[in-house]
Amino acid sequence: MAPLTFGILTVSDTCARDPTKDKSGEELIHLIIDHSTDTGRIIKGHVAQVQIVPDNEFTIMEVLTNWSDNENLNVILTTGGTGFSPRDVTPEATRKIIHKEAPGLALVMLMTSLKITPMAALSRLICGIRNKTLIINLPGSPKAARECFEAIAPAVPHAVDLLLNLKPKIEKTHEHVQNSQCRHHSGNETIAMNLGHVAGRLRESPYPMISMKEAEDIIKRYSWQGENEFVELWKCHGRILAEDVRAHCDLPPFRASIKDGYAVIASDGGGQRQVLGGLEAGHSPGSIKLEPGYCVRVNTGAPVPEEATAVVQVEDTKLLEKTSDGKEEKTIEILIPPTINQDIRPIGSDIKEGSLILKRHTRIGAVETGILSSCGTTKVQVTKLPTIGILSTGNELQQAGEQPRPGHVYDSNKITLMMLFQEAGYTPQDMGIAIDDENVMIDAIKEALSHVDVLVTTGSVSMGDRDMLKPILTQIFNADIHFGRVNMKPGKPTTFATCQYDGKTKYFICLPGNPVSATVTAHLFAIPFLNRLTGNYAKPIIVPAKLTFSHKLDSRPEYARVILMWSEEDPIANAYSTGNQISSKLLSCKNANALLMLPGSSDDRLEMHPGDVVQAMLLGFQQNAI
Ligand code: AMP
Ligand code: MG
Repeated sequence: MAPLTFGILTVSDTCARDPTKDKSGEELIHLIIDHSTDTGRIIKGHVAQVQIVPDNEFTIMEVLTNWSDNENLNVILTTGGTGFSPRDVTPEATRKIIHKEAPGLALVMLMTSLKITPMAALSRLICGIRNKTLIINLPGSPKAARECFEAIAPAVPHAVDLLLNLKPKIEKTHEHVQNSQCRHHSGNETIAMNLGHVAGRLRESPYPMISMKEAEDIIKRYSWQGENEFVELWKCHGRILAEDVRAHCDLPPFRASIKDGYAVIASDGGGQRQVLGGLEAGHSPGSIKLEPGYCVRVNTGAPVPEEATAVVQVEDTKLLEKTSDGKEEKTIEILIPPTINQDIRPIGSDIKEGSLILKRHTRIGAVETGILSSCGTTKVQVTKLPTIGILSTGNELQQAGEQPRPGHVYDSNKITLMMLFQEAGYTPQDMGIAIDDENVMIDAIKEALSHVDVLVTTGSVSMGDRDMLKPILTQIFNADIHFGRVNMKPGKPTTFATCQYDGKTKYFICLPGNPVSATVTAHLFAIPFLNRLTGNYAKPIIVPAKLTFSHKLDSRPEYARVILMWSEEDPIANAYSTGNQISSKLLSCKNANALLMLPGSSDDRLEMHPGDVVQAMLLGFQQNAI
């Protein structure tokens, strides 16, 4: 059988300028000349033409027509220029020069890519025929190009046979297809296939690396769904108000004295007054009638008589005469003439009946419970809390207290996350430890989903051959992975997914296993996400901080654990490092009160120095709405 002749056309402005950057073209050449693909399907190929062109529609059309009209290539593979940016025009150029479209090939590639990432929905690949040449658009990244090509590779030789009208070969293929049993892998088999052979694992995550901002925007698509409940005032601390709260009454509900002194009629001015008696806090208002020339002794918080227009503090008076038994005040002198309304709190001056005292989405802290109580509230309507489960994964994990086993470590993530979420006002449930076995993990997830809405896991999302969580989520739970890789350190493989289970939406926040990564990403993703589901939309507090140490910048933006300290002389906090920032070392989170938001390195900046000012996110604090 003669090998198929291939042309490989890389479409990329960057690669056209610097051909050493063309990794996808290289990958495709290897796939063809090695005569085999990762999936073991043989394509006998000979690469007859290779070219790199910029993202220019006319140039692409020119190469494609030349190769198919004059070079008699069997197959042209293009790679690149298929995205959504204005310069991406490979599909447009291809569509203009093909005589017939072959949408099935594009569909197979789309279906394959969708299993890896929901972003595949953005695929615009075009496949078709020009004369006797099959033209296939492949994506631009080497990994995606390879995966797509592998998906259609089995059909390519037969397509070429059909184009060349090679009758005996066509018949042989048809016969083979008819006789062969169509085998469908069940979800479990597929996983076993992906996970069983370490040599077959991917060497780069198939999930697009998204920025922190993109990941945050994805999280922000989720919000409280309006479910609420009434809770007793004494149990509402830390909860989020589901409704605006208005005052049931005026505060003070009567005209109250601000001072210990005498209620007077201000227009009487200074001078002598007869003391009519005393009103203490708790007495009924209006029980004593005040007349000109008289005064009534009042305590702070006591009601003042209806006729009183001022209170004069005791310090501004002098006793002139006692009663005959010497126990009571009879006459006093007002030393400073009072002004009208002096030292009287009018009715409703602190809180007006019917006024808005707490807004919906407010987090109820100690003071808020006090405000509610001051208005006589006994129950409040708060948002329902999501139910949360925490699952640790890993063959190597043991519970503290167990006899240490070789090669094992104690699980620290579960308790850290449980406590962090409790600090944030949630009541997470312990879903145990799942070993790295697909059936154990599937069962643990099923069990968790039957109890909780949000499952927070740690481990099994990196690139190890036992990191099986993402394929399990997509293949067994039919989950949509909204992101599976974030450009940050620590926490790159942090994954956020949703699925439908028992008719309900379930959420997965899958954090990396390293204890520091799990803790940092819990702060950056898990708690903000839980807050959103709970209707708490308050923002983190970000302040400037001055480095007291040098730090070599990573290529990814980094969240370094620091202790911020403020001095009297400088309004900008000093950031002290918590020590070695390796992501296994939980001690680097000890006492940290902020995450320093270090930028990724650039050509102009490779290192930060003492005195440099960067942003820092305070841990455990939020900005409340005004
Ligand atoms: P993984 O993300 O599963 O590849 O794990 C990365 C590292 O984190 C490994 O060194 C694990 O032993 C460690 N690790 C994973 N889960 C936990 C846990 N729950 N507690 C402590 N260390 C863990
Ligand atoms: Mg693991």
